[in-house]
Amino acid sequence: SGVFASNGGMKMEKTLAMIKPDGLRGNYTERIKGAIVESGFRILEERIVELDEDRASRFYAEHSSRSFFPNLVKYMTSGPVCIMVLEKQNAIADWRALIGPTDSVKAKATHPNSIRAMCGLDSEKNCVHGSDSLLSAQREISFFFEEETESGVVNSV
Ligand code: UDP
Repeated sequence: SGVFASNGGMKMEKTLAMIKPDGLRGNYTERIKGAIVESGFRILEERIVELDEDRASRFYAEHSSRSFFPNLVKYMTSGPVCIMVLEKQNAIADWRALIGPTDSVKAKATHPNSIRAMCGLDSEKNCVHGSDSLLSAQREISFFFEEETESGVVNSV
């Protein structure tokens, strides 16, 4: 008919995924990437970087007044992270669904097939990140893949 998109109306989207330091340390990278590809995402970009304190603080700036913020920055700077741009229809919500709830203990109880249930530890060390909205996805993708790369602030390992 040509009036409706054959994809049911869902938009092709890009989202930012990150395997956090505990995920890399625990050797979960290949399992996580397997789940990503199996769920129909294309990995458009992939890079290992080490966040310094300034960069981790700016990435999580919206949480800067929270009591957990200093520990969050320590965690995020405790080792390399793997950042990826994922693409698929409805990628933003679908990646959030695949990673599961923020608190990995809750994830194990209520979303046993989620990535945080598989490899997260608690409400801080939860193994992976996913953009939570179209605006965050755009901000976070440009944070890693457009801004500052020339000045070397993104420190590729
Ligand atoms: N976090 C934490 N303690 C909390 C809540 C969050 O250390 O009580 C950390 C956790 O690593 C989380 C990140 O801060 O992934 C960002 O929190 P947000 O609420 O945005 O959760 P997310 O979007 O990652 O599920």
